[in-house]
Amino acid sequence: MENLVSRFARNKMKKPVLTILITIVLIVVILEVLSKSQKCKTPDCFYPCNNFSTILPGPRDPDLIRLQQKRLAGEKISKQEYRLIAEKLILEKDPELMGCYNGVVCGESGFVRKDLPSNAKIFVKRHELEHLLQTGEERNSEFAANLAAGREYPLGFLQTIFFSIWNRAKYYDSPVCYIISLWKTFKVYFLP
Ligand SMILES: [Zn+2]
Repeated sequence: MENLVSRFARNKMKKPVLTILITIVLIVVILEVLSKSQKCKTPDCFYPCNNFSTILPGPRDPDLIRLQQKRLAGEKISKQEYRLIAEKLILEKDPELMGCYNGVVCGESGFVRKDLPSNAKIFVKRHELEHLLQTGEERNSEFAANLAAGREYPLGFLQTIFFSIWNRAKYYDSPVCYIISLWKTFKVYFLP
């Protein structure tokens, strides 16, 4: 009897799971077909590093070198330690200088939009610091930076996602092109 009940429960569970899976696959297929077929113009969004060329190239910060050595030696680094160095090295800049970027690494320097909500800002600072610490062996450096920063600042991660979705809409004249751009961004930042 118990077996019969659990089998019934299992079968009842299968249907919604299958429906969700089929829906996800359909959405992915539609997004991929749209990405290939739609002609969307590149958004008018400059690369911010040109704005900061006067302070490049900079020497590698001694704190950054120390942190990198600790990582390579496999020593544990606390969230606070990362935060202190992110606050020191990732500089806040006016949004007009940042194009449509929340944060960026230019050579040995990192920058973040000054007007980001506070949780998002510390997430982005940690994300950019991670880029400065990366060895180049990461399969997807954006995913790796998101993973490192998102683990420490999950709320900031969510805030950054919502801020970006809201903030970038103005760069696209068609909603379809905007959705395609979100899909492309998702693939870069969220798939390993
Ligand atoms: Zn990044």
